[in-house]
Amino acid sequence: MESKVSPAAFFGHGSPMNTLEHNVYTEGWHTFGASIEKPRAILVISAHWYINATAVTAMSQPKTIHDFYGFPQELFDIQYPALGLPELAHEVAEVVKPTWVGMDTDSWGLDHGTWSVLHHMFPQADVPVVQLSIDASKGFDYHLSLGAALAPLRESGVLILGSGNIVHNLGALQWDKPDAGTEWAMSFDDVVRDIMTSDPSRLPSITSHPAYVKAVPTPDHFIPSLYVAGLATAAQTVAQPTLRGYAMGSLSMTSYII
Ligand code: ZN
Repeated sequence: MESKVSPAAFFGHGSPMNTLEHNVYTEGWHTFGASIEKPRAILVISAHWYINATAVTAMSQPKTIHDFYGFPQELFDIQYPALGLPELAHEVAEVVKPTWVGMDTDSWGLDHGTWSVLHHMFPQADVPVVQLSIDASKGFDYHLSLGAALAPLRESGVLILGSGNIVHNLGALQWDKPDAGTEWAMSFDDVVRDIMTSDPSRLPSITSHPAYVKAVPTPDHFIPSLYVAGLATAAQTVAQPTLRGYAMGSLSMTSYII
């Protein structure tokens, strides 16, 4: 019997305010959710769970974490009451062996990298969600390989999502350019697109790009894309760019689907 493989994707999440807004990106997230077969569960690698360990949320009712400040009360009032799926947490630990994965039962939950996107993608919150942390102590090759190791989960109805931003420099934001990118941001984003659409296994080499330090001043938002590059590599395929665009000069909203 032919087994059906779930899609996997990286989404640029941008500002937490996207949760409350309706724009080309949020519409794209919604359309994606509506266009695929309802997954058994969603595994999210979010830029915002960036710790010194590889861990998964293993609680059955993950809390909604409001990991930001200075935003309207309406955003703090958002709840994303999706259930967890402890059995998926254990499946993750199993498929990535010998890499060790910690079972988090009470410290994390669902952060806004996850729920700002899922609020639009699965507004009913009726699909269980598990988060996989980003181990900040590891290099890009580790994250690419870990992403590739997750590939078998796609064969059992698990939708794997990376949530971050290819270009993410909050220190270089240009508030007067809500929908524009600076030249260096667009050039970096173009090179990432070239890699993702030709040989995603080469993505770790992006650190030698002249604009890397400016585009990726801290690697947290970039790393989720390495998981999708790893999944594409494992599937011997490439990633398709979608929702290409920029926000405030120094954020790329570009997303990738495989
Ligand atoms: Zn973010």
